[in-house]
Amino acid sequence: MNDYRTHVKIDLAAIRRNAEAIKTSTGKRLIAVVKADAYGHGVAPVTKALRGVADMFAVATVEEGVELRQAGVQAPILVLFSALSEQASQIVEHRLVPTISDWEFANRLNTVASDPIKVHVNINTGMNRSGIHWTEAAQFLNRLKTLDRLAVEAVFTHFATADEADKSYVFVQIERFLSVLEEIPNSGELAHAANSAATLAVPEAYFDAVRPGLSLYGVYPAAERPIALEPALTWQTRIGWIGSLSEGEGLSYGLTYKAPHRTRVAMVRVGYGDGYSRALSNVGEVLVCGARRPIIGNVCMDVSIVRLEPTDNVSIGDEVVLIGKQRDAEITVDELAHRAGTISYEILTQIGARVPRIFKH
Ligand SMILES: *Cc1c(COP(=O)(O)O)cnc(C)c1O
Repeated sequence: MNDYRTHVKIDLAAIRRNAEAIKTSTGKRLIAVVKADAYGHGVAPVTKALRGVADMFAVATVEEGVELRQAGVQAPILVLFSALSEQASQIVEHRLVPTISDWEFANRLNTVASDPIKVHVNINTGMNRSGIHWTEAAQFLNRLKTLDRLAVEAVFTHFATADEADKSYVFVQIERFLSVLEEIPNSGELAHAANSAATLAVPEAYFDAVRPGLSLYGVYPAAERPIALEPALTWQTRIGWIGSLSEGEGLSYGLTYKAPHRTRVAMVRVGYGDGYSRALSNVGEVLVCGARRPIIGNVCMDVSIVRLEPTDNVSIGDEVVLIGKQRDAEITVDELAHRAGTISYEILTQIGARVPRIFKH
């Protein structure tokens, strides 16, 4: 494919291998988190690649769940956040598994459903952004039994600090979750809690299923790397123009870079309109001819500018790597996130709809 200005390549086999490695290593069921278009990787091909490995998929919204059903996904689909009341009938129609975080929504679902529907109950053990507070959870679960069309398939919780070196708060949350599990007489509910960071570092958090997102795509959330994962995404653009500045001349909006001496520069065809963060202005690096070259000046909406070395043998149309490998050099998602002052999750999910995804099977 030679006519691209910028594109990402997704190695679907790598995503499948990552999922298999996680399943083998944990020995648990896999709830594969594919929210936000599979972290920017393209949700329909990713779910297809995970067929038979993922026991369940998880998305953030009802709309994402419906999209997966329409893409032909047959596996169970968990919606991680409580839906709007008005979406109860859509959940039933598309056989999604909703998360219960409050009584009103549970009641609404029970009214709309004609057959029993499976639900998961979110228990707030200290993330404090959603769910039933752990001290009230057992009572709530008891009360749910009066809603005869809701079948509680699982209870889950979510960690606030599993990616930090100090795991003490993770264990506080595990203790709270365990106290709820002990209070509910063995009525067969499953339990799940582990995001990627806990999946990689806290076996005590495994319960019946693990619930990773980021690590499926080959990106580590923290320093612990007990399972070998392969990054699945490569982001490339191309050189669109080559020029030179004389000493003291500036470039791009605001002239924030001033050439200290005669300087060769190349425009590359990617900008913040594609999700290449403007925070990378004067701090980003890209790969050209297998070597690192700095982004100079302000990143524009559609293009950015790179400083070349006088010896770089480049032409218009040549490949430039933003994330991934070129010859012996590599720029990781983590590095880019660090340079942009954010996290890998945001870099991946900000890659724009204008950037075509090319899938390798
Ligand atoms: C996003 C999300 C996950 C996955 O988190 P990762 O850090 O990407 O593994 C798991 N559970 C919930 C509730 C989430 O919102």
